[in-house]
Order: sequence, then structure tokens, then C-alpha cells
Amino acid sequence: MSTLLFRHIDYLATMDAQRREIRDAAIFIRDGWIERIGTTEDLPQAADTVVDLRGHLVLPGLVNGHHHLFQSLDRCCHCNDGFVELLKKLYSRWMHMGPETVQLAVEIGLSELALSGCTTVADHNYLWPNGLTPKHMMDAADTVGLRYHLGCGFQDTGVGNGGFAPEDLVDNETTALGRCAAAVEDFHDPSPGSHRQVFVAPSSIRSVSPSLLKSASQLARSLDVGFHMHLAETAGELDYTREKFGRSPVEAADSLGCLGEKSWIAHGVHLSDSDQRLLADTQCGVCHCPTSNMRTGAGLARIESYLKSGMKVGLGVDGAAANDGSNLIAEARTAMMLARIAPGSSAPLFSPRGALEVATLGGASLVSRKDIGALEVGRAADMISIDLSRTEMLGSEQDPVAGALLCSVNRVDNSWVHGKQVVKDQALVDGNSPGLARRAREWNETLRSMSR
Ligand code: ZN
Repeated sequence: MSTLLFRHIDYLATMDAQRREIRDAAIFIRDGWIERIGTTEDLPQAADTVVDLRGHLVLPGLVNGHHHLFQSLDRCCHCNDGFVELLKKLYSRWMHMGPETVQLAVEIGLSELALSGCTTVADHNYLWPNGLTPKHMMDAADTVGLRYHLGCGFQDTGVGNGGFAPEDLVDNETTALGRCAAAVEDFHDPSPGSHRQVFVAPSSIRSVSPSLLKSASQLARSLDVGFHMHLAETAGELDYTREKFGRSPVEAADSLGCLGEKSWIAHGVHLSDSDQRLLADTQCGVCHCPTSNMRTGAGLARIESYLKSGMKVGLGVDGAAANDGSNLIAEARTAMMLARIAPGSSAPLFSPRGALEVATLGGASLVSRKDIGALEVGRAADMISIDLSRTEMLGSEQDPVAGALLCSVNRVDNSWVHGKQVVKDQALVDGNSPGLARRAREWNETLRSMSR
């Protein structure tokens, strides 16, 4: 049993049920769990480890609800291509990746996420090239120390049948579902405070057949794990499902059993009012990926309307192929700004605290976790701190919480996952694997030489 006390926190936003914000705050933690929270004066004055956070703002750790970490070496590829063209071209890179390269990409992506305030990641991995396995992903995720949810992904519809992937990168139903079931068996830990979880993650409604979507959603239910897929991302997808199913993407997914309280979709850009009601009624969440939606030209998701309709909304950076940055706190700022100009938005404008809620409690609700997302008694000590004396925060003293979202804070100063420090003074406590930058450069040089 070890205890940890953070004291003299200048400003603490708990995101608890009352949304308490406390000045000169303290948090008392036992074995990674928050046991007491309040003012410095009211809490115990001693612990095994005492950390003085004078001059810092403390927030709950951010939750990234949608990523493809394997893409972290694909920044700045085909910069001016739209969604479909981009996706098709990238397969010529991905087909050459093996376990070592994917592990390198996972570490790069997780490092950037950690430095930008993320403490929990949902990674939608829908490709398993050249012998890659869920164990490779789990091992790579361990290097950085964030809570890692592996989306065991798949597609069974290749480019010859209206999908995007070359035929040798698509799975059949038996392989896809077998891999999911084995990964859940081997790695899924549903207990509170879990560091590793697994969810079932078909790629999209265009790249996975209706029969596999149906059986995959049944499998997720029978295993009592999450279910996640891209949905309603582009206008082209709307045309596709209208033609194939006579329904919107959300209605089509619902008809295949894909929506439910443990399900969440990525993007959800193109949602009619009735789609929004359907998602709210089924308690299916939406992971908003604003930068990706701009980068690929997919469109603008009206998250304020989604929240008003009762939908669960979280935040994701998406893979580096569609968002060259994996910066989660910057993504929260982008989400807030875009919500202010979305069609139908009006005063009062979408607030910094609204964006913070989407990035914390919203993300936790997507991955069905009640042990993270807020700082309160009984939850895990996943938290971030920002030094208020940093140049970009000076002048924000009247509302430091708004400052974290409105000012351009691109890195957190410190972060802790279950009370264990992951980021210290804007750097990873454990550093990166040796040769990370050199290996990333070499991979891209290898790909360039192959394409010559
Ligand atoms: Zn995605």
C-alpha cells in the first residue's frame, strides 16, 4: 500500500458530478485510487510521497477515443487527396509494414498523445500485415504507460468489391472473429483500474460485409466488450448505404445490430436528426475527430446538437494518415472552436468546459469506463498538470481552466496514470526506445527506395 499526496494545486477542475473547481486543492491517493480530494488545508498533510503543485492547473487525464497508431509513420502523405484517394494510396505503404515497424509507430503515437495530456487510448487497428498480432500491439503499448484499449479490427471487403484495401490485406470471417475472441481471452481486463482492454472493431460499413458486421456485433455482446467502427464519415458513405441498404449509415448499422450502449462510432459527421435520436436512444457514442474531418474534407460534425440530443460524445485525434498530429489537448481546442461555427450553433458559444468534458468524461463514456474521466473519490488518479507560469498561459489567471482550452497549450507539464508519473516537465519519464527517430527515418527511406 502506498500513498501519494498532491498539495497546493493552484487550481483543480475535478469534472465530478458537481463539476467542482477548487483553489489551493489537494488530492490524496492510495495505490493509484483517489481516496480524498479537497483543499490543501482539509486533507492529510503527509503521505509516502508528497508533490507540491503550486502554480499548476490540474485536470483529469484526457481520453482519446479513436486512433490508428499503426499510421504514426504516415504523416504528410498525399496531403491534398480526399478521403478515398488517400486511403487507397496508403495501402501501398501499409502492406509492407511488419510487427517491428508497427510497434515503432505505436510508440511514436502514444508518446505524442502522452505529451499532450492523454492518459487512455482506444486504438482501432484494422490491419494485421506480415504476422502482426495483438500481442505485438500490447507489448508496444506497454512502452509508454498509458491505459491501452486495443480495437481488434478487420475488413473482409477488398478493393475488388467496393472496399479500399488490397485483397491480400483483408480477412475472412473466421480469421477476423477468431482473432478478436483470442485477443479478448488473452488481454482483456475489465476490472476497475484496468490498463489493457480489447474491443471488437470492424473497419467500416463499406469495408466489412453485412454478415460479418452482424456476427461481429453479436460476438462483442457475447464477450461483453466494446464495439467500434467508422460510421457516417463522408457524404460518399451516405450515397453508398442509401444505394445498398436504402438507409442512412446509422440506420444500416442499427439494422445489423451494431448500435448499443457499449458501441461507439468514429466521426459521425453526417447525422440527420433521426440518426441522432437513434444513436441517443441506443446509447451508442460518437467519437468526434475534428482535425481528421477537416484534413480529409469529410465535413463538420455538429457536436453541440449531438450533445443536446442526448448522445454520448468523446474526442479522438484519429490516425496520423488523416491527422498528422496526435495532439489531444490541441484537438480539444479545435473541437471547441469548430463547434462555435457549426451550422445551428448560437450564443452562448460552445464552452471550454464543454470541450474539456467531451475530452474527459465523454471519452470515458465511449469506452464504458466509470473509473476514469474525472477526479473524485473512488476514481483512478489519471491526471495532468499545466504550469500556469508558461508564456502561453500568462494572463489567463482569471480562468485557468478556460486557458487550458483557449490558449495554445500543446503540451502538458506532467501527467500521471493510476498515480504513476508518465510525463514530467514536458518529457516522458521513461524516455523513448533507443534509436526511435533514426528508425522512423529509415522506414520512410526504405519505402521511398521501394517506390523508385
Ligand atoms: Zn479512423
